[in-house]
Amino acid sequence: MSYKFVCGKSYTRKDIFRIIGLLEEPKGGNWYTGYTRHERDYFIFCNIGIPGRTGHDYNNHFIGDNLIWFAKSDTKIYQPEIQNLINPKVKKYIFIRSSNTEPFTYVGLGQAKSFEETSPFKIIWKFIDEDEVNPIRFPEEVTETQTYIEGSTKQITVNVYERNPDARQKCIKHYGVICHVCEFSFERVYGVIGEDYIHVHHLKPLSEIGKEYELDPIKDLRPVCANCHAMLHRKRPAYTIDELKSIIRNNA
Ligand SMILES: [Zn+2]
Ligand SMILES: [Zn+2]
Repeated sequence: MSYKFVCGKSYTRKDIFRIIGLLEEPKGGNWYTGYTRHERDYFIFCNIGIPGRTGHDYNNHFIGDNLIWFAKSDTKIYQPEIQNLINPKVKKYIFIRSSNTEPFTYVGLGQAKSFEETSPFKIIWKFIDEDEVNPIRFPEEVTETQTYIEGSTKQITVNVYERNPDARQKCIKHYGVICHVCEFSFERVYGVIGEDYIHVHHLKPLSEIGKEYELDPIKDLRPVCANCHAMLHRKRPAYTIDELKSIIRNNA
């Protein structure tokens, strides 16, 4: 089956049941514990940065456009379910959220790019887009690769927060698809191909981020155009939005 979910759109489990044609809502079971099979396809519900229902926090996260994801505990490569998940012929519809409430954001059809036989089993998902347009994942952003060690275990890159698709959506929904520095609108200039296109900038310098940091998409992120984004990152730590605004003013 091929279901028409739109990348970047929000769905509750109820919405999903309706779309895939489940007349009766499944009560509990696998639909609520991370991933489940429906006919030949899999549906994956992934918490990012928050503990799952079972209380485990396996640190699912994005690195660039890839989703680093952990299966249920005690999962092993020879298990049929894991075999299905890494089988490119089986469809995986992947939904994420970064708070404990619904809805989820649809990220796309995932394909195992690689995996590690850790416990739990770890899969690195890349996203294949068949015929979907994808407003939330971008091949771009700032290419800065500065890393920061969170606590002593977690390594994150400078733009890991700017690439979190769920947080991006919340930020854009709140501020609009317009540059917060210069008010540039891609849609106004480029028409339909610029629709929904914007970068998202993370305001807090990584040095100020503690171990317990929880991203607040409204407080910590701002939509900016690609030019302003590049200029913000011309120095480290980045210019503030106000600094860049005054640079533009002084230069006019
Ligand atoms: Zn701008
Ligand atoms: Zn940035």
